[in-house]
Amino acid sequence: MSRALVIAIDGPAGTGKSSVARGLAQSLRARYLDTGAMYRIVTLAVLRGGIDLGDAAAIAAAADGIELAVGHDPGQDRSYLAGEDVSAEIRGDAVTRAVSAVSAVPAVRTRLVALQRALAQGPDNVVVEGRDIGTVVLPDADVKIFLTASPEERARRRNDQNVAAGLPGDYDGVLADVKRRDHLDSSRDVSPLRAAEDALVVDTSHMNQAEVIAHLTDLIHEKAGVHP
Ligand code: C5P
Repeated sequence: MSRALVIAIDGPAGTGKSSVARGLAQSLRARYLDTGAMYRIVTLAVLRGGIDLGDAAAIAAAADGIELAVGHDPGQDRSYLAGEDVSAEIRGDAVTRAVSAVSAVPAVRTRLVALQRALAQGPDNVVVEGRDIGTVVLPDADVKIFLTASPEERARRRNDQNVAAGLPGDYDGVLADVKRRDHLDSSRDVSPLRAAEDALVVDTSHMNQAEVIAHLTDLIHEKAGVHP
């Protein structure tokens, strides 16, 4: 039996990372681990607890007691907080605005990174998606991919998604949020967002989702010697 393949996919928001990671996991018959969802669940618990986002010690204490769970099916991943299905709520504006502050707290990262390493183990192929997978969580991953795209292109995609979902369009607001999150995620002290030295960096600005998946499939084939 061949060894399980571990694929790390990192990059900022709006690069198409989640859809691409899910698509790859499906074609590799791999489990899919969305680490951003884990930071979002902790953030929801912090918000529900009325904790001040500037109080790192209180956030760390709250994070310690949180019971969270995430599904592994790339076709239908679910997120749970103390057994409650919070899959929709963690994608809402309130959590999206607060998540960078919560994920910058070192104790939150220590706890979630340990959990992510444990969840990534096993006999099956796994695609793990996040910001620090190739650099910190799974530095020995078989293939590390870092997706990028210009801030303007990422904002355009996010704004189009909002409009398609019936929300009012606000390209300038979305662009400002993309830049704010990029800055917070790449300038934090613990596990800043950056490509691992041995990551394959792919700019998706001028590619659609199918093209990105096809390109990554080729890269994985070359790098790991497998045909997804
Ligand atoms: O991927 P997603 O946009 O759901 O991630 C939400 C937030 O969680 C990111 O903006 C980042 O602050 C944080 N995150 C992180 N490390 C990861 C995954 C996500 O800090 N591995």
